[in-house]
Amino acid sequence: MSKAVFFDRDGTINVDTGYLHEPEKLRFIKGVPELIQRYRAEGYLIIVITNQSGIARGLYTLKQMEQLHAIMNDRLRREFGTQIDAFYYCPHLPEITGECRCRKPKPGLFLDAMKDFNIDMSQSISIGDSLRDEQASRAAGVNHFYYIHNLI
Ligand SMILES: [Mg+2]
Ligand SMILES: [Zn+2]
Repeated sequence: MSKAVFFDRDGTINVDTGYLHEPEKLRFIKGVPELIQRYRAEGYLIIVITNQSGIARGLYTLKQMEQLHAIMNDRLRREFGTQIDAFYYCPHLPEITGECRCRKPKPGLFLDAMKDFNIDMSQSISIGDSLRDEQASRAAGVNHFYYIHNLI
């Protein structure tokens, strides 16, 4: 089995500018790339779990989001010698697309990652900046949750 650190994206890895999708607006929160680097060197998978309702709202496309993630990972590789191993996202918004199983505080995305990577949740960690990150993590069986501002 593997172990993972689950990171929220906006407000945890990058500065939350609100529905971020423009590569030129991407700013890492100071200290977070180094945190990713350290956990990955310790053998944790680095997995991003993110609500992206901007897609349901029509503010940006799935493709734009995927491009942003590719650029994020390029920068982590080039500038910090590390990377995110996988991105899981919820593109929905209940009011527009109906209820889904993946929008945090629901645990769907964590459970998808668990299955895909055979992750031992009891050995894993979750890091976020909001209560729904914590609620989703705990619902998925991840008992170690940290608010990013307590780690950096
Ligand atoms: Mg956040
Ligand atoms: Zn969803």
